[in-house]
Order: sequence, then C-alpha cells, then structure tokens
Amino acid sequence: VDPSVLEDMEKLEETFKGIKDRFRLINRIGEGTFSTVYKAEDLLYEHYDNDWDIEEKENKWTSPPLKKQRRIGMDALADMDEYAQQRRRPKYVAIKKIYVTSSPSRILNELDLLNDLRGFDSVCPLITAFRHTDQVVAVLPYFRHTDFREYFRKMTVDDMQIYFRSLFTALAAVHSKGIIHRDIKPTNFLYEPDKRRGVLVDFGLAEREDGPDMKPCLCGEGVTERRRRVTNSVAAQTGPIGGYPKNDSRPSRRANRAGTRGFRAPEVLFKCTDQSSKIDIWSAGVILLTILSRRFPFFNSADDVEAMIEIATIFGVKRMKQCALLHGTVFETNIPTIGDRGFLLEKIILWSTCRNDGGKGGSEIPLDAKEKLAVRFLERCFELDPNKRISAEEALEHEFLKKKEE
Ligand code: ADP
Ligand code: MG
Repeated sequence: VDPSVLEDMEKLEETFKGIKDRFRLINRIGEGTFSTVYKAEDLLYEHYDNDWDIEEKENKWTSPPLKKQRRIGMDALADMDEYAQQRRRPKYVAIKKIYVTSSPSRILNELDLLNDLRGFDSVCPLITAFRHTDQVVAVLPYFRHTDFREYFRKMTVDDMQIYFRSLFTALAAVHSKGIIHRDIKPTNFLYEPDKRRGVLVDFGLAEREDGPDMKPCLCGEGVTERRRRVTNSVAAQTGPIGGYPKNDSRPSRRANRAGTRGFRAPEVLFKCTDQSSKIDIWSAGVILLTILSRRFPFFNSADDVEAMIEIATIFGVKRMKQCALLHGTVFETNIPTIGDRGFLLEKIILWSTCRNDGGKGGSEIPLDAKEKLAVRFLERCFELDPNKRISAEEALEHEFLKKKEE
C-alpha cells in the first residue's frame, strides 16, 4: 500500500473513532472529484453471518439482535442496519468518504436516494452511513469489477448484449423510482465480465425527476405552439448574424448541467429545464458507441459548445436545428465540417475501427447482422428528441437486449 494512502487511512480512523473495531481498511480503490473510496474488511462479518444462518434456517426475515451490532461511538446519519434483513452481510465493503466540499444537502440527497433504491440487485445498496461533524462516510458492499479499459476493446456483440442488459436493468429500476442518475459512464457501472453482471454506483449527482429545479420546457408542448414561441423570441429576431450580441441583457438560461463531459445528452447541452430520465439513456448510448467504435473516450470536448459541435458533426445541422427548436432555442453554425445531414452511425463505426478505407474503392469489411442490430439499438438511444428516445423498460424488450427464448 502506498505510504500516502496509509496516511489517509490513518486520518480516517482518527476522525471516525471506533471505526477500527468494525472495519479493517485495506486500500484505496477510487478517488474522484467528490469522494475517496477505500476497500475494507467487515470485522463483524462472522457475527452477522452466523446470525443470518440461524435466521435463514428458521426462515425469519428479521435482523440480528441489536446488541451485537455494536454501534460505533458517533452520530449515525442514517443507520441502515436493517439491511441485514435482506441478505448476507458482505465480508468486504467499500467505504466512501464524501468530501466536505460537497454541500450537506448534496450528501443527504445521495444517501436518501440510495436508501430509496434498496432491494434492487442491480444498484449497489447502502449498508450504513456515519457522520462526524462535517465528515460523512457511506458503507457499501464491495463489488469486484474490472477496469472498463481492460475489456471494452475485446467485447463481442454477445458480450455487449450481456453488459447492456445488466446496465439497462439497473436503469429501469432507478427510473421506476422516478430517479435520474445523471452520471452514467463506465466508472459508475461496476462490471465484472466473468460474472456477467454489474452494479450501478455513485448517486452523487442523481435527482428526482420531479425535483425542485424542474421548470416547464417547451419540449413538452405541441410543435405549432413551440414554433410560434421560438419565432417570436428575441433570439430568433436578433439572429446570429454578426456573431453573438455584445450587450446581451437577456437573462441567461439556467438548467442542471451536472454530469460528465462527453456523456451529456443534447437536451442538457441546450439547457432544457425539465430534463427526464432519458438523459441516462443517451449516456448509456455513448458507452455503446465507445465499445462499437473501440475509442475511449469517444467524445472529447472541453466544454458544452464543443460537445454540441461533436454531436452536430454526427447528426448534422438539420436535426440539431430541430432539436434546438424543441427546447425553445436556435442552433446556428458556420463551421464548414458540420454538414447538413451528418453521418450514419454505421459509417462512423467502420471508420473508427479502420474497416473502411475512406471510400477509395478498396476493401471494406461491412457490419454483420448482429452489429447492425446493435447500431439499430444505438439509434434508439441517440434519438435527439428525448420524448422519442427509448426508455430503459422498452430497451429491455428491444431485439438487441431481449433474452432469447430457449
Ligand atoms: P465519485 O463520486 O468520487 O465518482 P464513486 O461512488 O463513483 O465516487 O466511487 C469512485 C470509484 O470507487 C468507482 O469508480 C469504483 O472504482 C470504486 N467504488 C465505488 N463503490 C464501490 C463498491 N461498492 N465496490 C467496489 N468499488 C467501488
Ligand atoms: Mg463516480
């Protein structure tokens, strides 16, 4: 173990007095913008396991006697020890230390949503959480997983079907609770190719679909009403001629933009104010495009405008304009490489995997039937209009993900 990591782990043990009696910290397994995650061994594992066996034999779904749960001498923010009612205690846990830079309401939101999602196998459950003054740790079962970069290039279409069946099962569960994850990307879906299943983690940016930030957006309106509003808008009248207006006194559009570069749906980029769970479907589509094209990261923009340029290059100006209109805004560009009609996803995949010589009449290895099916599914995830985009539940019924009858 790296000496600096050892130092961090000691600090954590100092902050959370008593944590040593319950968990043995092993190593650091993740470090992000909002948290550090450690692998640890649950020292009370034997207790729980024995208790569980007795309960299981009697088929009683009750938790182990409270006295054995030796509460750690600190405030429990949310004590989820009834978790033991549902399944075995894991021997190894992931301890997620949430940075103090996260606002208290953000931390509470993450724990609250995780608590709501208990019972779904595809979502990493919360065991318990502790707070000491402004510091919070969440305890989760440890899930063995492989780094995405190690397997995505080798995946066959069959492997992709297994991966995405698992991911969309998790999304269907989350969305059925009216929750948007907002940060779907490979590092937040812990997948183990051998086990052929994964779990969704990191609800740090997640929110409820009918959350307080939601204001009506034009995308819920009829086409004529929307068109009327947009053509009458200041933006449409002043137009982009001569570039951006210099002294623009209009209030800027505000919408939740939380998420990761390259995985943001067009409606997030266009600052739609009532974003739905469909933003997660788009992000899942970006993962599929990454795997099919064998390029990671596929989109590599520095900001939202660049991200729009990347998307527009694929989908073309015409569809981007329609998409902008949907959210009550306009899309204009004079970048010569962005064509009117864009490119077929199939072509992009052929180019990025070097199976196409750029139309020089040489050998081209076309997509096979299974790959074409994957592309058809990808097109459903990349529907620019969120209302037309496939839902997680529908996705599980799509030919690409549907389990074959034996
Ligand atoms: P952040 O908000 O910092 O991104 P995450 O919850 O995504 O926090 O965790 C960061 C990393 O820690 C993950 O990408 C993963 O590698 C590891 N990790 C998180 N939870 C678990 C878990 N339950 N089991 C194993 N590893 C985990
Ligand atoms: Mg994460």
